[in-house]
Amino acid sequence: MNKIKLQSTFNFLDSSEYSFDQDTIKNHCVDWRGDFIGSSEMIIFPKSIETISKVIKICEKKKIPIIPQGGNTSLVGGSVPRKNKDEIILNLKKLNNIRKINFTDHSIIVESGCILENLKKKLSDHDMEFPLNMGSKGSCQIGGNIATNAGGVNYIKYGSIRQNILGLEVVTANGKIISNLNSIKKNNTGLDLKQIFIGSEGTLGIITAATFKIYKKPSERTILWFGATKISDILNVYSNFTKNFCDQISSFELMNYKSLKILERLGFKIDFKKEFYCLVELSNFQDIPNFEFYIMNKIEKLQIDLDDVIMAKNEQENISFWNMRESIPLAEKKEEFVIKHDVSIPLENMSNFINKTDAILKKKFSAQIINFGHIGDNNLHYNVSISKNVNKETDKEIVKKVNDIVFSNTTKFGGAISAEHGIGQLRKNDLKKYKSKFELEQMISIKKIFDPFGIFNPGKVF
Ligand SMILES: Cc1cc2nc3c(=O)[nH]c(=O)nc-3n(C[C@H](O)[C@H](O)[C@H](O)COP(=O)(O)OP(=O)(O)OC[C@H]3O[C@@H](n4cnc5c(N)ncnc54)[C@H](O)[C@@H]3O)c2cc1C
Repeated sequence: MNKIKLQSTFNFLDSSEYSFDQDTIKNHCVDWRGDFIGSSEMIIFPKSIETISKVIKICEKKKIPIIPQGGNTSLVGGSVPRKNKDEIILNLKKLNNIRKINFTDHSIIVESGCILENLKKKLSDHDMEFPLNMGSKGSCQIGGNIATNAGGVNYIKYGSIRQNILGLEVVTANGKIISNLNSIKKNNTGLDLKQIFIGSEGTLGIITAATFKIYKKPSERTILWFGATKISDILNVYSNFTKNFCDQISSFELMNYKSLKILERLGFKIDFKKEFYCLVELSNFQDIPNFEFYIMNKIEKLQIDLDDVIMAKNEQENISFWNMRESIPLAEKKEEFVIKHDVSIPLENMSNFINKTDAILKKKFSAQIINFGHIGDNNLHYNVSISKNVNKETDKEIVKKVNDIVFSNTTKFGGAISAEHGIGQLRKNDLKKYKSKFELEQMISIKKIFDPFGIFNPGKVF
């Protein structure tokens, strides 16, 4: 559809609610990693749920494909249109109000376009904590977080976003609105439809708002930094810590040597020598006096080599440690050829998975492995760096071979091929390969119920 037709089709939109300017649109057509570049004639920035409902009704009638977009930080090409497919983008950034904070039952109603970091700051002013935190918090939006069932660095404490959603508001087929924004925790009135939309990656409807659980903010946090020679030593620390610090652990992150070394590209000074490091964040939820002393006292009783432990001395040092961990994806962007994976592996099989997969990839491709991730949640970003002139195969063939090795080992060791990033465009074919036929058929049946004409985010997931 050309500009004139689109303009008359959506003539009810306010002039600040859309754009045909290609300079504006182009930025919304490229994913964060720059791997997927699409095109679109029009971008819509709706300011109200009523407008979204009208847009969807028209899109369905005229069979116009629509790409829901939040902060566009998807790592699987989920949030951008495909090339020359006449898809229009619906970006939620202008639907960004906090509708209500409820201090009685500790909940908040937030619209989808609210940026995660802004929401966290707002709650922090009230001494409250939003349960999601991650490296992309300055750009990603709540609607995108829900649509991807985001995990992040505090999953170990609060669970995924799914576990913190009490109610949802969605515009689905024919512009119909499903709205259940109540703050009740118990609701056994038949099937819980909101669960279908969480993690649906924009393929079933437009999420417009949600009610979340919120929590008391801890009075302080302390970062510990451990080095280890073997991954099994890190898992030993994990096991000891979970037994002794229980839910005071708010993050448990892994970084291997190579993942830290590449930070030098961003100007970090790295003089770590061990093969693995982990960052553990402990939070003082119960206002324990002299928290650092309390931690050291407990650690001394554990079977852990204290020479390898660094404790941040103040909040500034906490931030510096986090800065290193959270800068790894950015540093990786500067590497020449890295094949990325976001897998889940049972902790009991983690050592075997890493050691066996590393050995095969090093032998076949002289690969270097960049490992990091939320290991406390079984989640490993298992990334494979390959030098371009390793052999005469094309990049595509190498990617396919590497993926086959990583994903067949993931399956063999009881894991999942996507832990938190989702499927999008990147993992569509892999999903077909590693999910059972029956589950896929059931997923397609659900898609047809909520999106009978296939207008929501076509070419993603399914
Ligand atoms: C540096 C960096 C660190 C990251 N760390 C993490 C991490 O720790 N944990 C993690 O889980 N992810 C992480 N991610 C991935 C990404 O930030 C998350 O997937 C995030 O939840 C996406 O939010 P977004 O607003 O950017 O959504 P987008 O990227 O815009 O969209 C993601 C998907 O959601 C759909 N969508 C967006 N908004 C809506 C809506 N309102 N209604 C329906 N569908 C919608 C899109 O169509 C798309 O399929 C990271 C990304 C980067 C770049």
